[in-house]
Amino acid sequence: MKQEVSCLYCGKKIPNDTANCPHCGAVSHFQERGYRSGAIKRFIILFLIVAISSLFFALYLPR
Ligand SMILES: [Zn+2]
Repeated sequence: MKQEVSCLYCGKKIPNDTANCPHCGAVSHFQERGYRSGAIKRFIILFLIVAISSLFFALYLPR
């Protein structure tokens, strides 16, 4: 499904699945793919932090 949104920088209509505005070249904040991959990356980083800290506590705490 193709939708058009206004560019945050130049105000022109751009498709919301494009990575960069074709008019001014600014990075589009409307693209769905970039938002999703960014959310997945943040989730993986959070998961790694939780996994490493739980591993640290498991090794650190006396048995
Ligand atoms: Zn623009």
